[in-house]
Amino acid sequence: MNYIILDLEATCWEDKSTRMQNEIIEIGAVKLDEQGHQIDEFCEFIKPKLNQQLSEFCKKLTTITQTDIDRADTYDVVVEAFKDWIDIDEPYLLCSWGVYDKKQFEKDCNLYGLDTDWLYYHISLKHQYADIKGLERPIGMGGALRKEGLKLEGTHHRGIDDARNIAKIFKANLTEWEV
Ligand code: AMP
Ligand code: MG
Repeated sequence: MNYIILDLEATCWEDKSTRMQNEIIEIGAVKLDEQGHQIDEFCEFIKPKLNQQLSEFCKKLTTITQTDIDRADTYDVVVEAFKDWIDIDEPYLLCSWGVYDKKQFEKDCNLYGLDTDWLYYHISLKHQYADIKGLERPIGMGGALRKEGLKLEGTHHRGIDDARNIAKIFKANLTEWEV
């Protein structure tokens, strides 16, 4: 079975009370085999459907530019490419830091009327990490990296860099995850 360590970035606004719908603008993922060896990476930007102009807040948070998004394909196209890349006909497990990423995938699939069955095989590394380490509550990716003595490499809040960093935490605890 392959492990798909993934991280999404989405449209966002500084004002948390906004009723704007967040949409995925980047899928970053690392594919590991059962021994934790990296097989491949996936990194694609996505052009949102509802709000195509990124907020200043979102650009600053993610470092994703308007040009990145303008040039990108829409969610329906990119998610198909992502599912092909995962190879959903073979055994796989989606792994993310928390449940946000799975929920955001569901939202975007619903927005485009796409099936969500492929999201079923998913675990939250964040919640399992807290259990493994006996923490009182789940902690952020940055905190877990520090706890592992690992460096936060690349740019935090870029999907591909977050996925690579989460993959390092995953590998450091390879035998501990409940699949
Ligand atoms: P992350 O994987 O932590 O980079 O976050 C994924 C997405 O969650 C981001 O692309 C934003 O849409 C949203 N997000 C993360 N942090 C914040 C924040 N401090 N304020 C608003 N939205 C955020
Ligand atoms: Mg991220």
